[in-house]
Amino acid sequence: MSAEDTLVQVAKEVVVCTKCALSRSRKNAVPGEGPANAEIMFIGEAPGFHENEQGRPFVGAAGSFLNELLAQAGLQRSDVWITNVVKCRPPGNRDPLPDEIATCDQYLERQIAAINPKIIITLGRYSMNKFMPGAKISTVHGQMRQVGDRFVIAMFHPAAALHQASIKPAIMKDFAQLPKLMEQARAALKRTGSSKKQEEDKKDPPKQLDLF
Ligand code: URA
Ligand code: SF4
Repeated sequence: MSAEDTLVQVAKEVVVCTKCALSRSRKNAVPGEGPANAEIMFIGEAPGFHENEQGRPFVGAAGSFLNELLAQAGLQRSDVWITNVVKCRPPGNRDPLPDEIATCDQYLERQIAAINPKIIITLGRYSMNKFMPGAKISTVHGQMRQVGDRFVIAMFHPAAALHQASIKPAIMKDFAQLPKLMEQARAALKRTGSSKKQEEDKKDPPKQLDLF
């Protein structure tokens, strides 16, 4: 199956999924969107009010700010793949529960395997935890680490920056570094041979080396 076909298949399953309790209160599940060959994949937390209404990721206030941050890094929404750790809105925007994240992870894993991005950018602590368990966002934000045969950058959540003024300059500074980090990731993957097979990826437990 091509990457595009896999992503369409996952989306079809997500929009009718009833594997966790979030299915009962959602209006629209939000599988995620972007080009199948994206070099960068963003992973947020969960759909909010507007995402639940529209079935699309990051379309509310946090999404507008994310668009600004992307533009600042010379990127457009259409260049990147965007999804969340859970695909359905938690009631009242509460935090997603560990069992909801664990149940939904099968979709995220299939999306990552299909897209095979060079860089995953986590937005907020839930997606960060998937790749850097135990890390503190206040310490690791903006840093790029190798995880398996790709790179992960943990960013603050754009919504956090909207609610806490002190985070805004930090997230803007971190996104301003993105073009430089992308160059470093491309160069490092070129040296090591970028496109290892997904199967090897699975056999290899994630390494968490600080390369830079
Ligand atoms: N916040 C998220 O984490 N994801 C969205 O899709 C929207 C807001
Ligand atoms: Fe299914 Fe994920 Fe939605 Fe739960 S959050 S119902 S696992 S798609």
